Amino acid sequence: MSFVEPRTLVFVISALTALSALILLAMRQSFSPTVRGINSWTTGIWVFLACSLLFNFRETLPPIAGIVLANFLLAVSLIFMVSGLLRYHGRQLTHYLLIGVATLAFTAVIAWFTLVQPNFQFRLAFVSTLIGIILAGLSYLALAGRPLTTGRIVTGAAFLLGTITSFLRSISVVLRLDQPNTFFDLSGFQVLYLGAFNVTFFIGTLGFILMINERLREVLQFNAEHDELSGALNRRAFFERTTTELAASQQLKRPVSVLILDLDNFKSINDNHGHHFGDQVIIDFCNTVRSVLRPGDVLGRYGGEEFVILLPNTTSKTAIEIANRIRTALHVPRNLPPYTASVGVATTLSKVEDTDSLLIRADKALYRAKSQGRDRIE
Ligand code: GH3
Ligand code: MG
Ligand code: MG
Repeated sequence: MSFVEPRTLVFVISALTALSALILLAMRQSFSPTVRGINSWTTGIWVFLACSLLFNFRETLPPIAGIVLANFLLAVSLIFMVSGLLRYHGRQLTHYLLIGVATLAFTAVIAWFTLVQPNFQFRLAFVSTLIGIILAGLSYLALAGRPLTTGRIVTGAAFLLGTITSFLRSISVVLRLDQPNTFFDLSGFQVLYLGAFNVTFFIGTLGFILMINERLREVLQFNAEHDELSGALNRRAFFERTTTELAASQQLKRPVSVLILDLDNFKSINDNHGHHFGDQVIIDFCNTVRSVLRPGDVLGRYGGEEFVILLPNTTSKTAIEIANRIRTALHVPRNLPPYTASVGVATTLSKVEDTDSLLIRADKALYRAKSQGRDRIE
């Protein structure tokens, strides 16, 4: 195993990891704040590199720095990375006190077996086991949930490699298959362990870079398809969705219905209460509509105070029932002055019909509802 000098190996991988952390930092500047976890992850990597540096020069450093502080920093770096993955998933690290106490206890054990009763092999088994558990947690956090993206698979696999490496290292020491005497002991598989462990952080960070790109793409795609105020699909995305749904339904000979809804006398709501208040009404309207819709139904903003709803696999009878439920829900008093909407309903006939013609029919029905007094369904 002496073909690679372990220190060189660690140095090269650390340099690559530092480079990937710099890339992460550069990306941070241009990323939307909705992509979370980058700061924690980058901090974790810097701390890990500091710990790597101490490990690398441990022979020239006093044990309290080269061993005790280095292990403490290793634990801290992993905590930051756990926090990064949690934030990425929209969660947050909790139990700070417990984590703080556990980290100090861990450091105290290391200090005891370094300064008071030096025992390298015990420390190796102890650290490897605990770190293996945390790496397993990181792997789980990367892989848990759907959809499983390339970035998450790469990150999860990197930490799985770290987990396996750590446990093998600890088992080999406990079972005395391998009895290294110092950190850079070339005996047995130590050099492989050391390499694999450092590779974990490098590949893990590359995976995390992929993950934040995937998240950014999701955010941009969401923004490109949704109206910001109401969260409903925008006109273009709604048209695309309806066209896809019509094609699928025509093949399966299923009916499709659409509703066009327009808030009544909305101009006077704006005029009487202000534009901001009008916005609140639009948000309230969309929330109320969503509370009535079924899981596969799609709400879109057609423009201004006009909305469209796609009702897949829905007959005109059911569509009218849903429209009625919306009307009824709007009549329930809330902490806003009352407002109403008129609804036009259209359902595909047995002949092939495209999106435009279906929406035109619904629009004509809406026009009738308006001309016949508003707050009604046609
Ligand atoms: P009708 O019952 O015939 O639909 O009358 P209306 O007043 O609702 O219709 P009109 O088309 O005359 O006015 C719609 C108003 O909606 C005009 C526009 O300023 C307002 N509006 C459109 N989009 C928004 C928005 O996002 N926020 C607010 N506050 N107002 C909006
Ligand atoms: Mg209106
Ligand atoms: Mg209108």
